[in-house]
Amino acid sequence: NLSERLESAFKQLKGEGRISEINVASTIKEIRRALVDADVNFKIAKEFTDKVKEKATGEKVITAVSPGQLMVKIVKDELAELMGGTESEINLNNKPTIILIAGLQGSGKTTFSGKLANFLKSKKGRNPLLVAADIYRPAAIDQLKVLGEQIKVPVYSEPENKDAVAIAQNAIAEAKKNGNGVVIIDTAGRLAIDEVMMTEVANVKAAVQPHEILFVVDSMTGQDAVNTAKAFNDRLNFTGVVLTKLDGDTRGGAALSIRYTVDKPIKFVSMGEKLDTLDVFYPERMAQRILGMGDITTLVERAQAQFDEAQAKKLEKKIRNNKFDFEDFKEQLGQIKKMGNIKDLLAMIPGVGKAIKDIDISDDAFKGIEAIINSMTPYERQNPDVIDPNRRRRIAKGCGKDISDVNAFMKQFEQMRQMMGQMGKMRGMMPGMGMGM
Ligand code: GDP
Ligand code: MG
Repeated sequence: NLSERLESAFKQLKGEGRISEINVASTIKEIRRALVDADVNFKIAKEFTDKVKEKATGEKVITAVSPGQLMVKIVKDELAELMGGTESEINLNNKPTIILIAGLQGSGKTTFSGKLANFLKSKKGRNPLLVAADIYRPAAIDQLKVLGEQIKVPVYSEPENKDAVAIAQNAIAEAKKNGNGVVIIDTAGRLAIDEVMMTEVANVKAAVQPHEILFVVDSMTGQDAVNTAKAFNDRLNFTGVVLTKLDGDTRGGAALSIRYTVDKPIKFVSMGEKLDTLDVFYPERMAQRILGMGDITTLVERAQAQFDEAQAKKLEKKIRNNKFDFEDFKEQLGQIKKMGNIKDLLAMIPGVGKAIKDIDISDDAFKGIEAIINSMTPYERQNPDVIDPNRRRRIAKGCGKDISDVNAFMKQFEQMRQMMGQMGKMRGMMPGMGMGM
């Protein structure tokens, strides 16, 4: 499993205050392998990871996140930037706006044409015209007609005409006559790159001068997707990419490779056969998907926003001198709470989400701990060692807990303190989270 492999590579980074040249090397290798596993072209994966390495080296690691988590964020941000930075839309300012759909047979052109028409109609208030320009398979015309009926969008077709260029031109004339603001031309595809198909699509392009040429590609075709994209782009110079069948278990590495190879934006993704969802392409989400990570980046961002550097330094010093006390502990609890719901936070850590699904890690559990600490005097909080059985009894009474609860908590605290002392520094606040009550 990819995310586990990454995690184990990241574990090697633990205990380092900064990401250094040496400790980053093995992680980079894992990331590269992970990208190749996700169908990213090897050469691209290498160039990409070299860039990440440069960026990550020397990056400061704050106490609240592990260096590994920080690396994931750096990698994810780089991936997202490479795939487009922000999402890109299609320009609908022409009357009519002409959109040509091209791609191999079975890539999802006809389905996407229906989705796009539905999207433009219901979300953008346009009145599109669908054009069946697949002249080889009569069934293809019927398929588009059925889709058109479902979404109440007119479909232009000429079943007897074997000239795709003429059909497209006639359709545009019809659209102008009927006031259709967008014309979506669904073309024929072949199973593989083929000169006849390419010439035909190129001829349609030359004749109708489309404002958008969307290249549709099946994300499950992996490395082949790049070659296909290159061939279509060399011939058509398309304006955008549609990545289909992302509802499958593909990692979507094709998104990165295609973007890298042809340098055209991915404008939409398709995640199913139903017509009612058309998904805009979000580079961020795709980056996360390619990495196969949970929502760890959100976790890192929140921790970075909440964690006070100066306070962290103070804390580190105390831990190093074995002076970590209940005041500090309480402060840590407060930090964790500020970051949001504890279970949600834990669930963002890859591999943890599933494990804690059915366990009660409610904020109430932490309230129990807080109640015990609150029941201590300031002197006791700062000097945990003075808390003898007598004091424990009083504390238990003060917070309405059983003496055994207090004993258990004290024991866990002591274990934690020892563990921290061994580590020398505190890596994140996670040790405290094991303290269920
Ligand atoms: P075309 O030959 O390029 O026009 O491809 P079609 O639109 O006819 O799609 C080929 C097959 O893939 C059909 O069975 C579609 O239902 C299916 N399909 C298209 N897009 C998606 C998608 O996003 N997800 C899934 N799971 N299937 C899709
Ligand atoms: Mg089709």
